Amino acid sequence: MKILTKEDYIESLREQKHLIYYDGARVEDVTTHPAFIPHINSAAKTYEMALRPEFEDIATAISSFTGERINRFTHIHQSVEDLIKKVQLLRAIGHETASCFQRCVGWDAMNATYMTTFDMDRRFGGNYHARLVDYVKMIQSTNRMVVGGMTDPKGDRSKSPSQQADPDLFVHVVERRADGIVIRGAKAHQTGAANSHEVLLMPTQAMREEDRDYAVACATPLTAPGVVQIFGRQTNDQRKFGGRLDAGNPDFGLVGGETLLIFEDVFVPWERVFMCGETEFAGLLVERFATLHRQNYGGCKGGVADVIIGACALACDYQGTSKASHVKEKLAEMMHLTETLYSGSIACSAMGSKTASGAYYPDPLLANCTKHNVTHHIYEISRLAHDVAGGILATMPFESDLRSPEVGRLVEKYLAGVEGVSTENRIRILRLIENLTGGTALVESMHGAGSPQTQKVMYARLGKLDMKKKMAGKIAGIEE
Ligand code: SF4
Ligand code: FE
Repeated sequence: MKILTKEDYIESLREQKHLIYYDGARVEDVTTHPAFIPHINSAAKTYEMALRPEFEDIATAISSFTGERINRFTHIHQSVEDLIKKVQLLRAIGHETASCFQRCVGWDAMNATYMTTFDMDRRFGGNYHARLVDYVKMIQSTNRMVVGGMTDPKGDRSKSPSQQADPDLFVHVVERRADGIVIRGAKAHQTGAANSHEVLLMPTQAMREEDRDYAVACATPLTAPGVVQIFGRQTNDQRKFGGRLDAGNPDFGLVGGETLLIFEDVFVPWERVFMCGETEFAGLLVERFATLHRQNYGGCKGGVADVIIGACALACDYQGTSKASHVKEKLAEMMHLTETLYSGSIACSAMGSKTASGAYYPDPLLANCTKHNVTHHIYEISRLAHDVAGGILATMPFESDLRSPEVGRLVEKYLAGVEGVSTENRIRILRLIENLTGGTALVESMHGAGSPQTQKVMYARLGKLDMKKKMAGKIAGIEE
């Protein structure tokens, strides 16, 4: 059945009994569990907005396979325009969720695997690409949510996959059968996996010949026997269990919601295997996925940053500080940083190009710069938010104090701001700022889509240092 509406999506999650643990206990139904509801609501926006006429152009696309209108999160990019619309879409959803809506990971995995299976088949003459096309068609026609599984736990980072004391610290093939393969291992930090239907697994790094069994890409439903998920803790996650006020972004936060996604001898039929031993292509697949995901960050984080700026401006209105020149200056600085992030995402999309497969690919150097900027600018935006919001951000009492028959009137009285604004609304907006600028949200900006060091590695590869040396030498008049 095709998932169309937000309600269809939630119902589909209720029906699928995937094995997932939260705080040491099995979760029977993620759709009614307070720890999962905000993440589900956030991902559900990718379904809901696709049905709203004002977003049709950016939230849907025409399938390159069937000519039918599909959810853009299942589309293979056919043009530079598609790449730009992707970024516009992410910023627009960021405005409605102020959170991570998770569905980009699987989308990027499908596009990266599409391009790479094409190249693999050209080299080795296999049929991986046709299988991937079948898979993408299935996803387009059902509108299922896919999580892209890349990051392995990696154990001892100084050792390769096959050198690890425990061979399962990277996902690997443990058995090749006539009808498929059996995989074992885990993928860490899996954004959105708790509320996805499928996982598209990719290798986590370039592989050497001895790591052949680790060069594996494949897809499986999250309900497959042997798939186990353990949900991660987030900063202030207990707030999800209390009142709405303390949660800050009760309907959509905190960030993505990550699981440790484990494969305990999971069988995958050959139709869903897209790489199995082709070590030569593992690095390329990783690089393409990384570029496609790093392209996004000025879009989705730009959208969240817009909400941070709006929340700060409101908080200043409520506190009577919005006319102060230093506040105006700081809000302007936050806007500058936000638009800088967005510009990067647009630029790498505008400079995108067609791959041999026909799918379009953002400029990798610019995409890496964009994500790298996020690791700085979101911290700076958050620092400025803390500055203008004031120390109250860290000292507000509980919602229950505000509602208390004994001390509620004291909270009302002493946390009041300007006349005519309720204390409750002042707390509400400050809690939102707290939610968007602390803990897990910041760490996600640092390490999501790859840690800053992985971007620096790309500068060394793509930054054309030799060419730059030549330029400098020529201008300096050096002959040799
Ligand atoms: Fe999408 Fe941004 Fe979340 Fe990554 S961090 S899944 S790009 S919303
Ligand atoms: Fe992320």
